[in-house]
Amino acid sequence: MTRDTRRDPRYDVLFEPVAIGPVTAKNRFYQVPHCNGMGYRDPTALAHMRGVKAEGGWAVVCTEQVEFHHTSDITPFIELRLWDDRDVPMLARMADRVHEFGALAGIELAYNGVNGPNLHTREVPMAPTGMPVASFTYDPVQARTMDKQDIRNLRRWHRAAALRARKAGFDLVYVYAGHALTFLHHFLSKRYNHRTDEYGGSLENRVRLLREVLIDTREAVGDACAVPCRLSIDEMLGPDGLEKAEVEDMIGLLAELPDLWDVALAPWENDSQTSRFGPEGRQEPFIEGVKKLTTKPVVGVGRYTSPDRMVSVVNKGLADLIGCARPSIADPFLPKKIEEGRFEDIRECIGCNICVSGDFTMSPIRCTQNPTMGEEWRKGWHPERIRAKASDKPVLVVGAGPAGLEAAQALGKRGYEVTLAEKGTALGGRVSRECRLPGLSAWARVRDYREQQLHKLANVQVYFDSGLDADAVMEFGFPRIVVATGARWRKDGVGHQWTRPMPVADGARVLTPDDVMDGTLPDGGCVIVWDDDHYYMGGLMAEVLAEKGCETHYLTPACEASTWTRNTMEQPFIQARLLEMGVKIHAFANLDAVSEGGITASCVFTGQTEEVEADAVVLVTSRAPEDRLARDLKARAADWPDAGIESVVTIGDALAPATIAHAVYAGRRYAEELDGPPVTGDEVPFKRELVELSAEG
Ligand code: ADP
Ligand code: SF4
Repeated sequence: MTRDTRRDPRYDVLFEPVAIGPVTAKNRFYQVPHCNGMGYRDPTALAHMRGVKAEGGWAVVCTEQVEFHHTSDITPFIELRLWDDRDVPMLARMADRVHEFGALAGIELAYNGVNGPNLHTREVPMAPTGMPVASFTYDPVQARTMDKQDIRNLRRWHRAAALRARKAGFDLVYVYAGHALTFLHHFLSKRYNHRTDEYGGSLENRVRLLREVLIDTREAVGDACAVPCRLSIDEMLGPDGLEKAEVEDMIGLLAELPDLWDVALAPWENDSQTSRFGPEGRQEPFIEGVKKLTTKPVVGVGRYTSPDRMVSVVNKGLADLIGCARPSIADPFLPKKIEEGRFEDIRECIGCNICVSGDFTMSPIRCTQNPTMGEEWRKGWHPERIRAKASDKPVLVVGAGPAGLEAAQALGKRGYEVTLAEKGTALGGRVSRECRLPGLSAWARVRDYREQQLHKLANVQVYFDSGLDADAVMEFGFPRIVVATGARWRKDGVGHQWTRPMPVADGARVLTPDDVMDGTLPDGGCVIVWDDDHYYMGGLMAEVLAEKGCETHYLTPACEASTWTRNTMEQPFIQARLLEMGVKIHAFANLDAVSEGGITASCVFTGQTEEVEADAVVLVTSRAPEDRLARDLKARAADWPDAGIESVVTIGDALAPATIAHAVYAGRRYAEELDGPPVTGDEVPFKRELVELSAEG
């Protein structure tokens, strides 16, 4: 093996090849299967997204779960499909794209069984034991118990899918038995498998079907493909679920049958836990010991972004391959950057799970750190490349939050002369404030990556203490102005419930998250947090106040705390944390008015009101754009030509407050589109694929 001279020898171990059955991974960077909300609806976009990872140096790039038979669909979620030969070209496109860059392509064959209500196909779901389907939405559908013929059929269907996967060009054909999302997991689990035949009861019996499917798959694909097995090492349910000791016994029984063991926690929210609730490498205690049970390579995940931590995973013998989903989304070029010793260029995942929300909202994956994610094909964006500038006209970016920072660094990389003016004394805007809230320290990486990039760009000048007004901007005379001045939390209660200001008595003690983040907290007493925003901030405010010793009441018109965080899989952890901290959660509660000594709340259903005493109220409802500068500049549009101004564009929260991911995206979009074809709004600004109409119309 020739070693790249730029690489620190400390990291050589990460670039050793690993044999996986009949195929060889060229290094230890392994993109484990991950969902992305694109699936069968956006197959070419998906193929290109995976291809960019292969280009970035990942040795193995896998699909998401792929439905392999029409009797189990996972609607409304949008994953890939391999129901018959007609689906092969769609999958082949992805495998080809991955091969183009010298990586191995893996496919995760999935049959959701009791996990899917079959909303699309209307088939009756099948399970080891009939019971209500275990979907996210409590669907009023039950699965039926599989008989022996069903088991034989399912084996045949899996085998047929493996053959199709081989035909599509995949190098690794997964037998998926993890995350409580697939029939093989259900057969392993006493929770789902109450059978009294040879497929239920004892450990050997529950493992039987997995053994058979592993053998079937091996026979089907022969020496053309590796057969990895993905298994959940623990369901974190105590004795009610699969636990490490029992799963290790299962692995012991099947030790040499698969070509690779891919082990992770279940369910998915434990596997892909956010940084707010779990650190890098959190799964290591669970993975530990698996390698002793088999001679086959082991892959484990842990939101690894630190090359030293990766090296320790291998050196400590925890795993042979560094499994990554989110770190590969945030930085598809992570392996290449480590190989080239460009550590400061690594765009580290912040562990926010906005990527996961794509799957949960059935929309194409997006990433807070990597605004090109999901746009590789439809807009032609690339995480590491951006076309050169098309003019010499300099750009003034006002505001150094996520939007302004991303615009400045991306414009800088295009070669434009950029001036970034920031009112405060630090970069990062909201990110620098929010990363000081409990559990959000990793969010500072949004700022840190961009700050690092700016250091390297001699054509970008940053000025602090530069709160600009329209006069100043007009005087500078930059031809292009980007206004990225952010937003502030509203104090008037406008949000989802109140679309106009709510009644707030003079003298009422009302605070916003900005006040709390600035250190203005009630001294104690009883505090009400009214959360009509529903993402993370309301829950965090309650956490901060409870920590300070306030008697904290959390009110929400929704059914639960921070309800949108269902999409980032954090909701159960947030609610548990608040309850454990003694926060009283009041669901289905509207806030009708704030008085001097308390509030009037009402039931969202009956309207019945209640007076509640409180020393202070924290309103977490919505944010108002800081758009004074933008408005003032617009009002003087007639003077722009004299001042040498061609365009003023408002981006990010200053235009319309949303997530940090939205702001970063807005910054990137400005930079990508500058001096490009005009975007009039009359045409769809991206490529898309349309369903081919049947000839039998
Ligand atoms: P976004 O998420 O859209 O990037 P942020 O609120 O995080 O927005 O960041 C906005 C940044 O703009 C903050 O750092 C703020 O200090 C800065 N800012 C706001 N108004 C001005 C101004 N008039 N001149 C310069 N900087 C400003
Ligand atoms: Fe990481 Fe957040 Fe990007 Fe997902 S969206 S990859 S968690 S930074």
